Amino acid sequence: MTILEQLQKIVGSKNVSDDKAIAAAYSRDQHWSFVEPKNPAYVVRPGTKEEIRDVLMLANRENMPVIPWSTGINIRGMTIPVKDQSIMLDVSGLNQIIEISPEMMTATIEPGVTFGMLVEQTKKYGLRPAFPDAPLTVSAVTNNYLRGIYQTSPRDGLDHILSFEIILPNGETLSTGSRLLSKELPYFRYGPGPEIASLFIGGPGTWGVVTELTLKLYRIFKHQEVYYVGFEDIDTPMELLTKVNREELVSGCRFVDTAHWLPPYLGTFDYAYESLPEFVVVLVVENQDKVFQAQDAIVRSYIDKSGGKILDLPSKLADNLKCEMLGAETSSMIFGFKGNFYCVGYYGPLKFLSKYYNDFKQNALEVGFSIEDISYYANTIARFHGQSTYYELEIYFDSSDKKSVEMLRALHARTVENLLDTGIYGWFRPYAGVIEPTLERIGNFADYWKKLQQLIDPNGIMNPGKLF
Ligand SMILES: Cc1cc2nc3c(=O)[nH]c(=O)nc-3n(C[C@H](O)[C@H](O)[C@H](O)COP(=O)(O)OP(=O)(O)OC[C@H]3O[C@@H](n4cnc5c(N)ncnc54)[C@H](O)[C@@H]3O)c2cc1C
Repeated sequence: MTILEQLQKIVGSKNVSDDKAIAAAYSRDQHWSFVEPKNPAYVVRPGTKEEIRDVLMLANRENMPVIPWSTGINIRGMTIPVKDQSIMLDVSGLNQIIEISPEMMTATIEPGVTFGMLVEQTKKYGLRPAFPDAPLTVSAVTNNYLRGIYQTSPRDGLDHILSFEIILPNGETLSTGSRLLSKELPYFRYGPGPEIASLFIGGPGTWGVVTELTLKLYRIFKHQEVYYVGFEDIDTPMELLTKVNREELVSGCRFVDTAHWLPPYLGTFDYAYESLPEFVVVLVVENQDKVFQAQDAIVRSYIDKSGGKILDLPSKLADNLKCEMLGAETSSMIFGFKGNFYCVGYYGPLKFLSKYYNDFKQNALEVGFSIEDISYYANTIARFHGQSTYYELEIYFDSSDKKSVEMLRALHARTVENLLDTGIYGWFRPYAGVIEPTLERIGNFADYWKKLQQLIDPNGIMNPGKLF
């Protein structure tokens, strides 16, 4: 039997294709300036876990690369084939919310479940998932599994995964955490043995195919205040940012470069953005009743002494920005600016906020971008010492313009080296273009990482080329 016939036997003939027109739809994403487009040989759409297992076993026998694909929204080339004869394993058909447990504040979901679906269902119980600053169409499983979610809330923290189920390249199914002892109670990250969930999290489809994941849910508070505080320079807000995070006073905290971050994001609103101060700090205070009032009073007093000014933004603009911060039912991401968006996302300490920005700005100007092309934001992400911050350095560019693409490649190389030299905690997600120079700097950790990868996937079939 040919490979096509074997795949047809597993998933049924209408769920597998080697048609070039269908393959082409999976061949590129917005990161094409860095990751060359390439067609997969087969697009396969399994409908059950057993079918996923059988496709993996076939691919393993035949040494064929497999690329798991959940909703394909990624913008970093992570599902683009690198090798010939690749199988694109589109698991979006597994799209059930298996359970929402209001009692345990958890949801157990399949990879085709989008954030939009989850937000819609959980709000019935006054709950919400941790929300990424992403389109509502992304897979909640993949988004979390790739590396926690980092964006919205220092109150939620970073770790939202309790347990998951993954099918390995040899066809075995592995469960993590308390699922090992009782599938009825999939609510605890730590099970009877070593905690291996963390080891698997963050692999871009390189360990196996995640088929189920149990996530934490969080309360929706009725009492909530959002402050937009304007600053004319980048250093003045540091004291406010440090205090509200260290003292665990805010649920959301974002620093944005107003002139360049807001218009491309929210560009459909007719607004004199140039009248705003250069930087805005957005703070979300929420809690119960009197706790909220006390917390809010402290935050207010810190804002008053911060050197910043509370802005009275038009409600439409403020509401949309709030959606980005808190994950409401709409996502306002527009990117209506020059057509293409580049960003490098990473974790670093809050104290480097101005250095990261100033270096990026200087590098971008030196390679030929203008100040209007640059944007920047920082989100604090976890309480603890108040320093853990997610950063994005961004460029809006026209990808049909060869010169801009060349400039972007030069800027990317400089930025990655600069960040590694300055000091970061790590990349948001490992992907082509950031992982290579990083592996060179992490010594024997890289060797152990490769050895672990070989242990799980000795034939190297799982999304090869994305890490090693
Ligand atoms: C404009 C824009 C802005 C965004 N901003 C943010 C943001 O601020 N914060 C944020 O968290 N996200 C953000 N995202 C979303 C983020 O890029 C995607 O959630 C993420 O890349 C995963 O995409 P996906 O869910 O569609 O998964 P896919 O694109 O399907 O897959 C992504 C990777 O996961 C692997 N994979 C897919 N399914 C599985 C599976 N079942 N098991 C194992 N591996 C699998 C793939 O092989 C691939 O390597 C943004 C996306 C866009 C388009």
